[in-house]
Amino acid sequence: IRETDINGNIEPQTDVSLGGGPPSDLAEQSLLNKLIRSSLVRNMNQVEVLQRDPSSPLFSVKTFEELRLKPELLRGVYCLGFNRPSRIQENALPMMLAQPPQNLIAQSQSGTGKTAAFSLAMLSHVKPENHWTQIGQVMEQMGKFCPEVTLTYAVRGNRMERGVRLQQHVVIRTLSGEGRAPAVARGHLDPQWRGACACSSTWSSGPSVERGVRLQQHVVIGTPGTLLDWCSKYRIIDPKLISMFVLDEADVMIATQGHRDQSIRIHRLLPKECQMLLFSATFEDSVWGFAEKVVPDPNIIRLRREEETLDTIKQFYILCREEEEKFSALCDLYGGLTVAQAMIFCRTRRTASWLAGRLTEEGHQVALLSGELTVEQRADVIQRFRTGKEKVLVTTNVCSRGIDVEQVTLVVNFDLPVDMEGNADNETYLHRIGRTGRFGRRGFAVNMVDNREAFQPQHQPAGPGNLQEMELLIS
Ligand code: ADP
Repeated sequence: IRETDINGNIEPQTDVSLGGGPPSDLAEQSLLNKLIRSSLVRNMNQVEVLQRDPSSPLFSVKTFEELRLKPELLRGVYCLGFNRPSRIQENALPMMLAQPPQNLIAQSQSGTGKTAAFSLAMLSHVKPENHWTQIGQVMEQMGKFCPEVTLTYAVRGNRMERGVRLQQHVVIRTLSGEGRAPAVARGHLDPQWRGACACSSTWSSGPSVERGVRLQQHVVIGTPGTLLDWCSKYRIIDPKLISMFVLDEADVMIATQGHRDQSIRIHRLLPKECQMLLFSATFEDSVWGFAEKVVPDPNIIRLRREEETLDTIKQFYILCREEEEKFSALCDLYGGLTVAQAMIFCRTRRTASWLAGRLTEEGHQVALLSGELTVEQRADVIQRFRTGKEKVLVTTNVCSRGIDVEQVTLVVNFDLPVDMEGNADNETYLHRIGRTGRFGRRGFAVNMVDNREAFQPQHQPAGPGNLQEMELLIS
């Protein structure tokens, strides 16, 4: 699963960019990725650091204590179950907390602790006695022992009246907050989730503001359009008083119509000395061009994604003539194997729902993830599967990109992945089977083969030795 990055190096493709769907897919995918992740993604690679001033000493920390945070904030960090900084946090946190403030561009795959890092930096940066808006991301949980720091959300529907000046300390601008807000409000999201937009029960209504009444919240989380309105049209935030500005998920942000330009317009309103932080899971040319526009004189840190390994995955194929035969092969598999959890991929929604129905009739607990579901419904299905309520997840390719469920031990390609022309899609194949056998656990990938074009074992990068014909003699 590879693509070439800006330096011509080979870099594994990210979850969200697989298949390169339209921008709305990116935003949805990013949300689902956040939702299904309950813990830090392990990455043993070295962090690459490019300092603006190469002669200044490079600090990295192995403990949160070394950062000399306010005790209340440290309590919030430990309360979240963070024992030590993640790999990217080791370098990013000292840089973000340094005085004088330094700008930073940081790239690492999602799940490596970027959001937590800049949330901590912002909460640490806030001076509650200053009743004007600074910029940052709020993590309600992390800041829960700092009751003097408060927040609000700058998203569509949260109307502010002209002339009311915000007194929040932190404003967060995020991607697609609008789209996510209803999901948050309806309680579909894991309350632990503090991704690109923070959870809040007050999300949909927001603070009601009367003309002339000054808000007391210190933190604002917002989308570029609304935030721009609040800064320039309604003038309830004075951008000149902003001292820290964070752009999260820059790659997804620039793929969303209008967000790139709105971000640049907000950036122009900020004072020169404002600290700029930009985070992204990927670093294509477009992201880099955007980063250079909004982050002057940056320090740059990158944590390359770890190569996926297929060593612990056994791959098999079963020759089948048609769907009914595939189904009985699947039943035989279940008869002969103890499967903790399985993901089954189908080419079409029709096959997926047919298969889900048949498996349910056989007594399996089945979850069906398909394209007609809303993003909230999909999130719900994934959550249920993740927590083990269902043991089998039947899905089509489109809505399953980027889903990592650790306990999956069997991946079945009920239909092998093909591209638009019907040729074997090796990238998708690798990505699918990469879900199983994680963390050294043994995994099985079983392919039901009925299509000559889709099946080219000599092209499978894992090597033919690893792909064996499976006889239907298991039971
Ligand atoms: P990213 O922004 O890179 O996608 P997040 O900050 O959302 O990553 O972190 C991913 C997951 O790891 C979250 O569930 C978060 O609570 C957890 N996490 C972040 N930092 C740490 C840490 N230092 N120790 C343990 N868990 C962490």
